[in-house]
Amino acid sequence: MSEQQIKPYWQNYIDGAWVDGGGGRIAVEDPASGETLAEVARADGGDVDRAVAAARRAFESRYLQDLRPAERGQLMFEIAEKVAGMADEIALAECLDNGKTLAGGRNEAMACARYFTYYGGAADKLEGRMIPLGAGYVDYTVPAPFGVSAQVVPWNFPLQIGARSVACAIATGNAVVVKSPELSPLSLCKLAEAIDQVGLPKGFFNLICGYGHDCGGALVAHGDVDHIVFTGSLATGRSILRAAAERVIPSVMELGGKSAGIVYADADLEQAAASTAIGIFTHAGQVCSAQSRLLVHRRVHDEVVDRLVERARALRLGPGIDGADLTPLISAPQLDKVEGYCLAASQAGADAATGGRRDDGLPGHFMAATVFTGVTPDMAMAREEVFGPVLAVLPFEDEDEAIRIANGTDYGLCAGVYTKDLEKAHWTADRLSAGQVFVNEWFAGGIETPFGGMKRSGFGREKGQEALLNYVQTKNVAVKLGSGAGGRPGG
Ligand code: NAD
Repeated sequence: MSEQQIKPYWQNYIDGAWVDGGGGRIAVEDPASGETLAEVARADGGDVDRAVAAARRAFESRYLQDLRPAERGQLMFEIAEKVAGMADEIALAECLDNGKTLAGGRNEAMACARYFTYYGGAADKLEGRMIPLGAGYVDYTVPAPFGVSAQVVPWNFPLQIGARSVACAIATGNAVVVKSPELSPLSLCKLAEAIDQVGLPKGFFNLICGYGHDCGGALVAHGDVDHIVFTGSLATGRSILRAAAERVIPSVMELGGKSAGIVYADADLEQAAASTAIGIFTHAGQVCSAQSRLLVHRRVHDEVVDRLVERARALRLGPGIDGADLTPLISAPQLDKVEGYCLAASQAGADAATGGRRDDGLPGHFMAATVFTGVTPDMAMAREEVFGPVLAVLPFEDEDEAIRIANGTDYGLCAGVYTKDLEKAHWTADRLSAGQVFVNEWFAGGIETPFGGMKRSGFGREKGQEALLNYVQTKNVAVKLGSGAGGRPGG
């Protein structure tokens, strides 16, 4: 496969039509080579207006709302089938614009398809309640859609993150405008192609690509948007929340993390090391739920570090298309940032047990697999999201200290515990301030398991059945029967 197989220009999808962007074009780079791979239409304010207006018209048509929920689900199964049929093309797009391996790109396609089958299957299972009010009254609740849902997507897993929000929104009868990430927009265009091929009426799904500061900002501040789903950094989340507050509209915030795994002395150390390597080196650490801190009991600290260093050094750095183990970072600024954290940690007294530097031998944005020891909780590397293949190892003496360090950052997305003692695992999980806790295997959850943050990692939940509740608002209908209190109809 080669870059020639990637279409040179990708348009936006508004109101059921493929269109150019009012802002011209954005060049999309292959992070493994640093070369321009393709161009994508750049949406401006006018495009945002047109996309939101199309979504509004679609929503007001009531097509999805009036459909039997099972038929909504059927439409979603058709989307899933189309996406699965495009898995090879999607894998190539994700490989070349995002740096993933082909297997990783294929996984994106299949996760996207699965979100549509999972939430398609849930469309007819979201029910209201009946509330007893005594004789003469009937009261029930309706899970009502919000209307136009604006969804802003990050670059690291654009297709599956986009899909999880779009699928929930469509399953519940909303209309959607998605702003794809400017760094890796291609795979979401394939989702638009899939949706274009099924019978979803125009306007229910719109896809625009643009920069965050203009296109993204204009979308979330748009006066006709009813609901915002944002997945991305804490800084951008704060700015979007200001726009949501201005218009008093609900939002889901899926933000960053600084997640810690705790290795107790009784843990299976080989299992802990293997799981940690996956937790931090998958997609070169550019994962919101990455296991970027490892807290290790002093008694087993050196042994765990040795095992991790061995695993890190065994990883083959290279382009995803070649099936490398450790793939590039998304951009040159991202590489500078990640290396900057390593430099600062070294200056603050931590030691790179392995890695700590970029790999200059390759043309793209490659960072060596890195394990830092001697990290203290106050260092930037231990508190801030590095978003690279960089593991900070911190020792602890006892359970209380482990919990204190684990909970000692602003974030609360994920956490983990490695132990053979089930009681200790539950005790620890109970005390960790994190939306998802993994026991003995990082990333042990799935599409079925609710995911989202505590503290500054955000609010609202994606994935699992719980996510659907973020896409509906409860409407209560209280009915007075007959003419008098407690009266029979007509009586
Ligand atoms: P980012 O915040 O820089 O950008 C995310 C999206 O927001 C992009 O589409 C961008 O164009 C847009 N954007 C930027 N400024 C905007 C503005 N002012 N108004 C509206 N939109 C704007 O994040 P990123 O670098 O793309 O992604 C990495 C971050 O995302 C990390 O912090 C990571 O932890 C987080 N993330 C969280 C989850 C989760 O589910 N919690 C999943 C993946 C990534």
